[in-house]
Amino acid sequence: MKLRFIEPGNPPYRPSVENLFVYDKYIRTPSTGLITLATIAAGNGDDDVLMYSESISKIIWEDVLDADMVFISIFTFSADRGYYLADRIRQNSKAVVVMGGLHATLCPREAAAHCHYVLSGEGDETVLQLIDCIRKGKTPDFEGLCLFSGKEFIDRGRACLPKNIETIPDNSLCYNFKKMAGHNTMWPQVHASRGCPHNCDYCALVAAFGRKVRTRSPENVVDNIESAIDFFDKGHHRLTRLLWITDDNFFADRQWAMAVLIEIINRGIKYSFTVQARYEVGFDDEMLELLKKAGFDELAMGIEFLEDEAFRLNGKKSSYEEILRSVKNIQKHNIRVRGLFIVGADNHTEGVGKRLAEFVIHNNISGVLIQSMYFIPGTAAYESHKDRLIKGDWSRCIGKVVHYPEKISPYCLQKEIITASRIIYSPKRLISAIIKKRGVERILFMGEYFWQQSVRRELKKELPYLKKISREAGYEE
Ligand code: SF4
Repeated sequence: MKLRFIEPGNPPYRPSVENLFVYDKYIRTPSTGLITLATIAAGNGDDDVLMYSESISKIIWEDVLDADMVFISIFTFSADRGYYLADRIRQNSKAVVVMGGLHATLCPREAAAHCHYVLSGEGDETVLQLIDCIRKGKTPDFEGLCLFSGKEFIDRGRACLPKNIETIPDNSLCYNFKKMAGHNTMWPQVHASRGCPHNCDYCALVAAFGRKVRTRSPENVVDNIESAIDFFDKGHHRLTRLLWITDDNFFADRQWAMAVLIEIINRGIKYSFTVQARYEVGFDDEMLELLKKAGFDELAMGIEFLEDEAFRLNGKKSSYEEILRSVKNIQKHNIRVRGLFIVGADNHTEGVGKRLAEFVIHNNISGVLIQSMYFIPGTAAYESHKDRLIKGDWSRCIGKVVHYPEKISPYCLQKEIITASRIIYSPKRLISAIIKKRGVERILFMGEYFWQQSVRRELKKELPYLKKISREAGYEE
């Protein structure tokens, strides 16, 4: 059978001078999740399997419309684009169209209106079950399947957690990936474990995939790291030799995380790594020493907020004092801290952007990602804010303001994000980074400087609209 996998973009990738050397505003590395499913599907060797990621290439429509099955995976920000692609394929081909991914899992009814089947939850096993049914002409009926039968919505719930999560994604199944891997804006990625034991109110991941932490064997993870490095580096001259471990909470299983680091060290892999971390890792000196030794020069910390009230309001176990202590101790081990921040909590007022920027500069945070809160059905944050969402499509969920905050207007909040970005990525700080920073750190800051300019341009374009709806909603100017 001819099987095609599509990762919708937002909007589709267009090569330009702007994105050759800097972080393009839309360029993303194709997600390991969908490549993993394509790899599993290709496992029996008889089917013709190919994936398109609109983050790196256009779709070749003659090819896709001729497929027997098309799998489309959607995140929230790419949901509308995914629905457009699914509708187009259904109207113009005989392919069985299947949707899955984080957003389809949380909004299966919405997704099912655009496709024949939704695979809800992790699809490592159900993808094969569905292909087998279609191949044999049988009616699929198993856990993890959702569909509309006429007007009736049939929901067989989430798939059982897969027993085997050791598949090493075959990046060569993704069209154009090898060529695009030469861009310094793209990094090799490896997803080593799944699940997180915490339960932050806004976290779509835990709402979709649960709190049970599941790990791959350290040997399997490091095999994957070696193959990802090989894929990116062979035949390319890359300035940034950096690999991103994309786990949401790599340190949830401490013994396992240490075993992975020891395996990296034992195999003599010389590379830079980055991984997301909660603040607790900053109190674990043994772990920090191993991280440094293994090549982790940076941790991306989900700092999120700077006020204890915001942590409390959003069900996040954390405090300002602990964050600060953790950052300092990580830096003491000569590891940089990148900050992931959220604005728009119900306690946030004007000045939140400036306060954030001052914190970043004062505490020598190496770079930032600042996002306004967003709310996905299925999360506690959605339930408590669903009457205060700005009407619009899902594609605005890329860090823009998408709700009516309690103490600040949507217009002012978006301006706060712009202010924070402008202060952190000022020309003065760029010059200082060029003079004082070295190696990957310098290249990253320069790339981020230009990337943040394009982010701010996007945010600014919406200000007149946000001003209008803020006025209409009765916020004071
Ligand atoms: S710690 Fe991170 S991954 Fe875990 S629930 Fe909170 S936001 Fe989600």
